[in-house]
Amino acid sequence: MGNDMLFINGSFPRAIVHIDGDAFFTSVEQSMNPSLKGKPVVSGQERGIIACASYEAKALGIKRGVSLWDARKACPHLIVLPSDYESYSLYSKRMFEIMRRYTPTVEEYSIDEGFADLTGLRRVHRMSYEQIVRSMQKAIQDELDLTVSVGLSLSKGLCKIASDYRKPNGFTAVRGRHIHLFLQRIPTKEVWGLGPNSVQMLQKYGVHTAYDFVQRPEKWVDKLLHKPGREIWHELRGKSLLPVNPEPTRAYQSIGKGKTFSAPSRDPQFVYAKLVRNVESAFIKMRRHQHRTAEVYISLRYSDYRQRGLGVRLNRATDSTQEILPIIRRLFDQLIEPNREYRATQVWLTRLESADTRQLGLFDNQIQIERYEALSTTIDEINARFGKHKIAAATALTLQQRNENSRTQLPWRKLHLLNGENGRQRLYLPRLNIAV
Ligand SMILES: [Mg+2]
Repeated sequence: MGNDMLFINGSFPRAIVHIDGDAFFTSVEQSMNPSLKGKPVVSGQERGIIACASYEAKALGIKRGVSLWDARKACPHLIVLPSDYESYSLYSKRMFEIMRRYTPTVEEYSIDEGFADLTGLRRVHRMSYEQIVRSMQKAIQDELDLTVSVGLSLSKGLCKIASDYRKPNGFTAVRGRHIHLFLQRIPTKEVWGLGPNSVQMLQKYGVHTAYDFVQRPEKWVDKLLHKPGREIWHELRGKSLLPVNPEPTRAYQSIGKGKTFSAPSRDPQFVYAKLVRNVESAFIKMRRHQHRTAEVYISLRYSDYRQRGLGVRLNRATDSTQEILPIIRRLFDQLIEPNREYRATQVWLTRLESADTRQLGLFDNQIQIERYEALSTTIDEINARFGKHKIAAATALTLQQRNENSRTQLPWRKLHLLNGENGRQRLYLPRLNIAV
């Protein structure tokens, strides 16, 4: 490699760790029900598509995103489970609690992934950074019976790649003076924050590895890439720009919109159109305040004034109506009942965050997101000039196929309650390696 570039001549000017649960959903199932251990298990029965595949299933070529029908054909003894997000969330919470024993600066990046900033804590724990991280990893395994893969390095961008380098139960530490060696082994498509379009473009310029990328001059990168790409260039060179954000919610204020119909309706198409209008109003207001939302709830009110609601937590905050509508559609399909009379719809946007705190790496498809944003801006401008809802989502009036959602497929946990539990109340945090 001739003249290797040494970016940082030290070990850990900052020490950041990324922890990633291995096949998290099915591992939780195997932790709760040890008879599933060592077996090919997948989750996602209720959707007909594999949400998560255990390592035993992966070994048989079964992957996330594959239809269950195909998977069963390829592997008739596959164990297929309905998703049990309640238990997954509890395990997730416990995992983050274990991380917080070592540092208060823990960012819950997704249900099974988190960052922690350990800078300056060696003396507190009387351990090296590697020892702290191994201790975290071991505590998670001992207490939750889950394996995680960890990456320790100088920036979020580096440790996100490092945790993915060895899996499952991996441990990868990249010190400052070894960054250049590590990056030579990383293709650009594995770099956090570089979407497929950026990867393709970089390829045209002969940039194939993360090392090729960071060797390009800063000016060249500034000209070619958007902000997330530029930031990751610094992060890969060991300069930490993206802070570990310990606030799961920056702001708790929410925006709600709801309207009562002039007359109650039994027409699902009408109810949905009204709901979409509320969503659009709420998003217009949110964009005016320059916020994004990471949690959306809808509710439908019957003519007897009772109501049913459903919510969803997004893995990335958005301010795009176009992006949220397919999700609203799914929630609506789960809520709407035939031959029921409705009189109002409501929407709430919560977990609002400021639109300028853009998180890197959440963007699988940067171009698409920017297109959505540009479209939202245009819609706001037109509506401002010609009146609200002049441009509205055409989807408001197209009803898609309803998803058959069988309620008979109960998660394992709901069929195996512990002493002291009932269908509504769960003991806080199961670690259920109890042989029955
Ligand atoms: Mg994972």
